[in-house]
Amino acid sequence: MINIDGLLRKNIRNLKPYSSARNEYKGNDAVFLDANENPFNNPYNRYPDPLHLKVRQKLASRKGVGIDNIFLGNGSDEAIDLLIRAFCEPGQDSILSVDPTYGMYKVCADINNIFYDEVKLTPEFQLDIPGLVDAFKSTSKLVFICSPNNPTGNSMRINDMMQLVDSFHGLVVIDEAYIDFSSQESMLKQVRANNNLVILQTFSKAWGLAGIRFGMAYAHKDIIDVLYKIKYPYNLNAVTQKIALEYLDKQEEKQKWVKEILMERQRLREELTGQPCVNEILPSDANFLMVRVDDAGKIYKHLINKKIIIRDRSKVTLCEGCLRITVGNKQENNAFLSAFKEVCEY
Ligand SMILES: *Cc1c(COP(=O)(O)O)cnc(C)c1O
Repeated sequence: MINIDGLLRKNIRNLKPYSSARNEYKGNDAVFLDANENPFNNPYNRYPDPLHLKVRQKLASRKGVGIDNIFLGNGSDEAIDLLIRAFCEPGQDSILSVDPTYGMYKVCADINNIFYDEVKLTPEFQLDIPGLVDAFKSTSKLVFICSPNNPTGNSMRINDMMQLVDSFHGLVVIDEAYIDFSSQESMLKQVRANNNLVILQTFSKAWGLAGIRFGMAYAHKDIIDVLYKIKYPYNLNAVTQKIALEYLDKQEEKQKWVKEILMERQRLREELTGQPCVNEILPSDANFLMVRVDDAGKIYKHLINKKIIIRDRSKVTLCEGCLRITVGNKQENNAFLSAFKEVCEY
């Protein structure tokens, strides 16, 4: 167990949070004259629940965790930013991550004037555990690991991630944005026994709800309390909370989408295998494929001209020559494949 309070920035530890009108009375059967709202235009005239209690309740029962172990944010990007702001002193502290990985960790560190250290992944895209342990500094407060990793697509080994959790003096944040597409199980269950482990998940990928901005962080109550203390009071708007609540009753729909995306991922892999310009297709536990090709720039431009947009990741560490292709629906994938083959075959 680590001392969460001792890890916090001093100003955050001492912060008296803004108390919104809606924090003080719970229930919705009263005459509300406390928040300077407009009495007309129900239900949009009312401020949303700052504590997200209904959504957290349902999520807690679905996930088998306590309501106190759930933070809800405006996308999981909000949780990334709040964790950095809560624990890292600008101009002094640092976060640690790997290369290559999701770009938001570094951007958030830069915005907050926090040092960013990175340790290169192994040639198999796995964690270099001795390298990471070596890179721990007294100023390191958070380690960010993305599993399955964006952009490489692979899952990190659970034993490796647990080794970081066991040996690091700060928080280990595991970003599981792509966990629904993975053959490896979530680390969520490990939160109970490890108060320095934070799991990030999102409704933006498997749930098909990137547009409503809804992300989750799961962690020990002491960490969740801090995030609720420093977030904007109404970070999740009423429409988002309503839609999230509805979709939590539609797990089968999500499962159906995931199944179809996994089938299409496999079909894309088979169709691309043996194409003359394709050198390698990386293993993927996510909803995208990384494909190493002979002339990434040429293929990328040809596809753009055909109005098919993929991501050129060919300049990224360990990803030389790689294109990242999100798995679409059958028609989209067919359009991609036919345009890809046009430029690949000669
Ligand atoms: C897409 C993605 C997210 C999702 O972020 P939201 O803010 O929830 O939309 C988080 N982490 C990674 C690694 C991603 O690729």
